[in-house]
Amino acid sequence: MPVAEESVATVAKEHETTPFFESVNRNFARAAALLNYPRGLLEQIRVCNKVYYVQFPVRIRGEIQVIQGWRAEHSHHRLPCKGGIRYAETVDLDEIMALAALMTYKCAIVNVPFGGAKGGIKINPRNYTEEELERITRRYTVELIQKNFIGPSLDVPAPDYGTGAREMAWIADTYMAFRPDDINALACVTGKPVEQGGVRGRTEATGLGVYFGIREALSVPELVRPLGLEPGIEGKRVIVQGFGNVGYHAAKFLQQEGGAIITAVIEWDGAVYNPDGIDVEDLARHRRETGSILHYPRAKTIPLEERDSVLEYECDILLPAALESQIHRYNAPRIQAKIIAEAANGPTTAAAEEILERRGILVIPDIFLNAGGVVVSYFEWLKNISHVRLGRLEKRFEERTNQQLIEMVERLTGQSLTPRERQLLLRGPGEEDLVRSGLEDTMIAAFHEIWHIYKERKGVPNLRTAAFVCAIDKIATAYFQLGIFP
Ligand code: NAD
Repeated sequence: MPVAEESVATVAKEHETTPFFESVNRNFARAAALLNYPRGLLEQIRVCNKVYYVQFPVRIRGEIQVIQGWRAEHSHHRLPCKGGIRYAETVDLDEIMALAALMTYKCAIVNVPFGGAKGGIKINPRNYTEEELERITRRYTVELIQKNFIGPSLDVPAPDYGTGAREMAWIADTYMAFRPDDINALACVTGKPVEQGGVRGRTEATGLGVYFGIREALSVPELVRPLGLEPGIEGKRVIVQGFGNVGYHAAKFLQQEGGAIITAVIEWDGAVYNPDGIDVEDLARHRRETGSILHYPRAKTIPLEERDSVLEYECDILLPAALESQIHRYNAPRIQAKIIAEAANGPTTAAAEEILERRGILVIPDIFLNAGGVVVSYFEWLKNISHVRLGRLEKRFEERTNQQLIEMVERLTGQSLTPRERQLLLRGPGEEDLVRSGLEDTMIAAFHEIWHIYKERKGVPNLRTAAFVCAIDKIATAYFQLGIFP
């Protein structure tokens, strides 16, 4: 019988007395205390605007099962709302509201003009067949349609823990069947397969954004030298918790583009460890072939009972990419990493953060670091509502302009480019190039906004508070523009 991966999060939750949403609100309050906004406005930004709880029946192997689902729209200051849908046994109202709130702040930080939302179904997807998951997903979508909790201009879900492009395709298909007259129906959900209206680069977007975010933070000497580290990712030793969409892609980019050394990977059923480094692609291949990362021949297998102790192994960067509350008040004193790069949402509890801060460990906060997914979801939504593939209009034009430039340079210098050089310079940007450069630019700009607040504003204790200050400022401005708070 598989030990549900959720068990760990449950254990962590039991360790911690602070509920997840309260933990987010504590971080909010720390930033709000540094700002000079009316109390009512801050309250309006903090609270969750609208919540839907539903229980619906689904026939599973001849029996009726009653399934619980939620959708929370944290903020309507900008519409549509945006946020993933999670399938996990840990899902409850508190978790969904906390995650929806994080989405609001995240969107503000990366200048995505959406409010935050989150949805979830309380199931362990491993316990269901593909066909059963399809039935559950379609039924949940119908519930959302009936209550106006989904729609291109209202609320646009995306993948999260336990869901991916497959589920998003089912959601889009169900929505289009109910709203055949909505010309923008495809924009009702993002993270779809490319053949069904998705955008190239969405699958890896969160992990790639995590890489860009870490790269940017580690390029600042003032931030990394006090940790006893040299700037740059090259040679940094990284432990990854969660080898799913976000963890796998982040590890891959850190290794392949940044030259980091991945010393350990932790999964729900145990961990693998090799101080000399683990080849991420090779480990992914091993998992595809065997169904687990365990018993990977080029690393030591750590059994389930000792799995969480791997979080405490020596490393430069600890990258939690599984679930929330993984670094809590009990293991925080033993964490040896110099940097915690929050690829997951809420992996560090507020109580743990105080301990980490005292110990001088740098936390790169989730509301900035894992925003790559929503940035590229925004690009997908724009593609869907504009009904044109990104780059379609300009690709040929740019290639022709490049051609003219090359000819001019060749004429003026009397020298000819090699066919390879010509090919490189001629190429106009395709959809994937545009998505990647848009994501990179966004993550770089967002980091420097946060870094500037951290450095320049009085009393800002860490990057997380700086990120919250950045978000609250932008949301408050949006409310002022709406004229609600004169
Ligand atoms: P996923 O389901 O693709 O992967 C999660 C992985 O974590 C799975 O492989 C699972 O087996 C593993 N896991 C579960 N419990 C574990 C444990 N105790 N120890 C180690 N591994 C464990 O989910 P994902 O989409 O990669 O999401 C991971 C985190 O990133 C979540 O917090 C999610 O909210 C956040 N996030 C995801 C996206 C996205 O675009 N998918 C965007 C932003 C944030």
